[in-house]
Amino acid sequence: MAPPHTSVDAPHQQGSLAGRMALVVQKFGGTSMGSIERIKNAAARTVAAHLEGHRVVVIVSAMAGETNRLLRLAREVTAVPDAREMDALAATGEQVSSALMAIAIHAQGHRARSFLGHQMKVLTDSAFTKARIKAIDASKVQEALAAGEIVVVAGFQGVDEQGNITTLGRGGSDTSAVAVAAALGADVCEIFTDVDGVYTTDPNVCPTARKIDKISYEEMLELASLGAKVLQIRSVEMAMKYGVPVHVRSSFSSAPGTLVTHEGDLEQVVVTGVAYDKSEARVMLVGVRDQPGVVATIFSALAEHNVSVDMIIQNVSVDARDPGAPVPHTDVTFTVAKSDLTRVRSVIDEIGRDVGAADVRFDEDIAKVSIVGLGMRSHAGVAAKMFRILAEHGINIQAISTSEIKVSCLVATKYTELAVRALHEAFLDGGSS
Ligand code: ADP
Ligand code: ASP
Ligand code: MG
Repeated sequence: MAPPHTSVDAPHQQGSLAGRMALVVQKFGGTSMGSIERIKNAAARTVAAHLEGHRVVVIVSAMAGETNRLLRLAREVTAVPDAREMDALAATGEQVSSALMAIAIHAQGHRARSFLGHQMKVLTDSAFTKARIKAIDASKVQEALAAGEIVVVAGFQGVDEQGNITTLGRGGSDTSAVAVAAALGADVCEIFTDVDGVYTTDPNVCPTARKIDKISYEEMLELASLGAKVLQIRSVEMAMKYGVPVHVRSSFSSAPGTLVTHEGDLEQVVVTGVAYDKSEARVMLVGVRDQPGVVATIFSALAEHNVSVDMIIQNVSVDARDPGAPVPHTDVTFTVAKSDLTRVRSVIDEIGRDVGAADVRFDEDIAKVSIVGLGMRSHAGVAAKMFRILAEHGINIQAISTSEIKVSCLVATKYTELAVRALHEAFLDGGSS
């Protein structure tokens, strides 16, 4: 994307924009746009920033529940709707909210202009329903800002080289906001949502979750990729790449939120947060040939069908073990997004045949719980403690994956909340681990 963010005077302390003219990107999520009253409230915040002398660009999500409603409509027509048309449909949610936002700003006596993805333009690849932004042409926005207008941009949507409408994946307005902030070299990208910042875990699941004042891009990236949907993962990747300071805060209060930036809190805890993700399903190929090339065949075929795989486990199969067999057999288990499952089902039989699988099993009743923290790099025994806590609560671990700064365990869905609370209590309650 060009041009990259080059600002050197980013607000490393909250509130440091006061007293100077800045370029501020504000993003309002679905709940913050959930009713006309709330849109008026969001507009008032934007107008307040404008009156402080800042140049303001607002990115909006569809009104709460609207994207789900639209996607449901298509699925009422057919189980596998065409991806291009799904994007044409889903993008209408943000068309409505961006126009309403501009109208609300007008009603408060200020000038505003709304832009859809193709109007500004947000150029993406053609991966419908999960397109990636390639470039943003900020010239129209610059012109409108120079004319003293507040700019409203429909989040979540873009346009490909052929002029097709695309969308950026669920939660994609966060990415629209950071991308616009990067392209404009904004001083800050404020993400207004229904919680007042990034918490040590989902505050709607764990009552003792604490707000984090400052978190590093790296940790936020892990938390987002492991299910903390407060920020879409690509928005964090992009913020990190272009050095955009992101401030996550509440639409409903003026409390300072969480600053996502290069450095996290100075207090170095081992575990920064606990995340969970119920959006994956497990697929098991039972009794495939245990020989070179088999795993490559399976995952190449999935990649060709644009299916992203998360956890992968290969183990010696008990039910396929046959001492007399000419080739040994193994089980290959992996997780994919539930939303990709229809596509997996349509190709898995062929893949299974190619690798001699005796059976294919699907399990949608799984969740991934994870602990994340930069401090894990220098501490031994963190994973062992996590496994012990889960065991003490009678929770069976079905798969494990680790990196330098995270440990994830796959468990049955019904244990998700219990696991999150137990891990939070063990690693984060009391302020340190
Ligand atoms: P928006 O509609 O504003 O984009 P989202 O629903 O996408 O809001 O994201 C906010 C939600 O993210 C919160 O309501 C909360 O339930 C959830 N969440 C999950 N993990 C966290 C976390 N660690 N910190 C804050 N919120 C979290
Ligand atoms: N409206 C889209 C969604 O619900 C994008 C967003 O809200 O960020 O996923
Ligand atoms: Mg969101």
